Amino acid sequence: MRNYQDSYRHKGLRKKLMDILREKGITDETVLAAMNNIPRHFFLDSAFDEIAYEDRAFPISEGQTISQPYTVAYQTQLLQVKPLDKILEIGTGSIYQATVLAEMGAKVFTIERQKALFEKTRTYIFKSTYPNLKFFFGDGYEGLPTFAPFDKVIITAAAPFIPPKLIDQLKAGGKMVIPVDEGEHQRMLRITKNADGSTSEEAFDNFSFVPMLKGKQG
Ligand code: SAH
Repeated sequence: MRNYQDSYRHKGLRKKLMDILREKGITDETVLAAMNNIPRHFFLDSAFDEIAYEDRAFPISEGQTISQPYTVAYQTQLLQVKPLDKILEIGTGSIYQATVLAEMGAKVFTIERQKALFEKTRTYIFKSTYPNLKFFFGDGYEGLPTFAPFDKVIITAAAPFIPPKLIDQLKAGGKMVIPVDEGEHQRMLRITKNADGSTSEEAFDNFSFVPMLKGKQG
């Protein structure tokens, strides 16, 4: 059983990380405040306590990664999260990104396609802290029709295309933040669903994610 301890040292490292994110161009202080409140080292193996506060992605189990803090901040900022927003996340992974959204007061529905990673959510340390965070085992390409429509959709894996069912599950005026494949890298896009059901697209920087795969595993 690991020891979940958030020491002054961890808090200090975290504060420094927030300064690094500001220097890299993150301006939304509500995003930084949420990230500053969450002990990112709880989401990695305890051997990597220090590395948790470096601005880098890191392997978790099942060949997956916890996104780089800058990437989490960047996607969250683009999503323009408001308290009580109903948000669908594709790619639960380490649960870090979902926790940031829950800490911001959103109602979060997160889907993971790998059974082993989904099973880990059962022992999520912040389960009682965030009753507004719900876990699902499934294929993100299908979304969660039962819980639709959503104010926001965030995809945390490299999508080969914009999944049409996820656009269907977005409210009018809703937004999706999605890294879309362009060969080796992905272009971060923000899709807005208009009142008439059409969509508008804004393009941002390039990133590198693990692939969004079809179907469930395990
Ligand atoms: N948001 C995560 C990032 C995890 S990496 C975090 O904060 O740690 C991307 C995750 O997406 C992986 O766990 C991968 O298994 C998952 N994934 C890939 N394709 C998927 C799909 N079609 N549906 C649901 N999850 C998917």
